[in-house]
Amino acid sequence: MPELPEVEALAGYLRERAAGRRVDRIEIAAISALKTYDPAPAAASGRTVTDARRHGKFLDVVLDGELHLVVHLARAGWLHYRESFPSAAPLRPGKGPIALRVRLDDGSGFDLTEAGTQKKLAAYLVTDPAQVPGVAKLGPDALAADLPTFAERIRSRRGQVKGVLTDQAVLAGVGNAYSDEILHAARLSPFALTDRLTDAQLAALHEATRRVLGDAVARSLGQKAAELKGEKRSGLTVHARAGLPCPVCGDTVREVSFADSSLQYCPTCQTGGKPLADRRLSRLVR
Ligand SMILES: [Zn+2]
Repeated sequence: MPELPEVEALAGYLRERAAGRRVDRIEIAAISALKTYDPAPAAASGRTVTDARRHGKFLDVVLDGELHLVVHLARAGWLHYRESFPSAAPLRPGKGPIALRVRLDDGSGFDLTEAGTQKKLAAYLVTDPAQVPGVAKLGPDALAADLPTFAERIRSRRGQVKGVLTDQAVLAGVGNAYSDEILHAARLSPFALTDRLTDAQLAALHEATRRVLGDAVARSLGQKAAELKGEKRSGLTVHARAGLPCPVCGDTVREVSFADSSLQYCPTCQTGGKPLADRRLSRLVR
């Protein structure tokens, strides 16, 4: 799932490649992906791409005349930039991976795609990004927040730190993968309770958040567009590495599974060497 670093890199790439180009047209292949009907996609035709921005995990393609194509890539969505398209024929609604296509005036453009059968990718054509409900409720950006803001936001929500850190209303941009990485870097149990974190632990969490996200943004920006793939993250220490050695201490990275997700952590680095067996047991080890 694309998180802050990947979306930041996509925005950077679009600024470089698409800004200044006029939209030829927007084609919708997955009707359910477009969550707005007014303005209609045709309203984008002829407008110039002026910028690309990121709001949390949302990508915002800015068109002149105050029009925004705002996209949430969800779990399996991605943006593929095309130097050209094989055919000028409009996309037809169907079952393929392409949800939406934006054609630009130089023949290039991009496809928003979504793998798998669960279709959650969401696109919005709006005159103000704040009209997108998910954008309106975003907390401060996780990468930009200073320590006082960060600490206030984390402490504003009582709960397990993994859940609070990934709550987009608390701080925007961190998802399942980078929260695993951040908590590992901060040497905190994913189940530590936010109202019991010391000032020193919060400072470590803030520092780890900025470092992990900052490093990941730098790595993502360094990739060529063709290699910009959300699913090919590099430099991870614990996320998606269950069973492999922790690069810091050599202990075996462990996993806790939930109904539709999982988290990975290192017992030695994060939980005093005690494995977190499940949510019930975890109360004993935080
Ligand atoms: Zn470790």
